[in-house]
Amino acid sequence: MVTPRAVSIVVPLFNEEENIVALIGRLAALARLDVVRWEFVFVNDGSADGTRARLLAEAPKLPRWKFVQLSRNFGQQAAYRAGLDAAGGDAVIFLDADMQDPPELIPEMIGLWQRGAQLVTACRKSRGETGLRRVLFDTFHTVFFRVTHGVMPKDSGTFGLMDRVIADQLRGMPELSVFLPALRCWVGFRQEVVWYDRAVREGAPKQSFAKLCSYAWNGITSFSTVPLKLISLLGLVISLIGFSYAALLLFVRFLQWWGWFPSLIVQGFTTLAVAVLCLGGIQLLCLGIIGEYLGKVYTEVKRRPPYIVAEALESENPHES
Ligand code: UDP
Ligand code: MG
Repeated sequence: MVTPRAVSIVVPLFNEEENIVALIGRLAALARLDVVRWEFVFVNDGSADGTRARLLAEAPKLPRWKFVQLSRNFGQQAAYRAGLDAAGGDAVIFLDADMQDPPELIPEMIGLWQRGAQLVTACRKSRGETGLRRVLFDTFHTVFFRVTHGVMPKDSGTFGLMDRVIADQLRGMPELSVFLPALRCWVGFRQEVVWYDRAVREGAPKQSFAKLCSYAWNGITSFSTVPLKLISLLGLVISLIGFSYAALLLFVRFLQWWGWFPSLIVQGFTTLAVAVLCLGGIQLLCLGIIGEYLGKVYTEVKRRPPYIVAEALESENPHES
């Protein structure tokens, strides 16, 4: 008999204590489907609550699991990367612990993979979030899609399945400031999409507003130099306006000299102040954006590891399905 292929499900957790029982319940139900050999990889991203204890108490309900404890909070992307490195499956699935993305969609993803797809990305027909968070998510997706020339499908996120081929490609990449959802699409291969309705998050969001904004900005700047091009464009437009205005002023000045124009009262303070402030502001902004990219180069050349493992455990039945 051919042994079924193995699928690893990677779940990062940061203060998700209250979601663990429900999460493991749903994953255990999934694991009862005998289509593949399951492996569950949990990465505790430096949680300050009882995530570790509760997870280790619940995990034995699953057929085979691994637990990776990071030495502190390294952030969602680093946690996924740690999970990717620990995963041994022929396919790797990324799943958030908050159950916004339904584990019940996984069999459909696996079906596509078994029929030859090497990357299955889940795209949201609708979103659970409302208000400002929703506006920010929508704006990010639209901007990201534009500036990266559609590297990843619109309205897709981290939830998805990748074949071992793609997992190994990602693991071999030396980049530190990774944005995995886009990077795994960037590598190419046969890609498919599944559609679903995204739920509201269980428990409070673990990514603060500031963290989400920096996540979005990191996503854009690690995938695109369009912001730098925008700076040049902005500079060009402002220079054009500046030169035209200077030409007009010179023209009026000449008219005054030749006495063809009534002498103007020297006011001009407003114009000067506005020009200095606007230009100063824009210059600082542009310097800031260039600085961001320089900062990225700085982080990359230091070559620090993306995460540090403090503890690694696994179930005692590594060869069971
Ligand atoms: N997460 C993590 N480290 C962090 C923040 C979040 O491992 O520093 C995990 C979190 O536990 C969850 C997933 O990443 O499993 C997504 O987090 P969240 O739902 O807060 O983010 P969002 O869905 O808003 O992107
Ligand atoms: Mg979430």
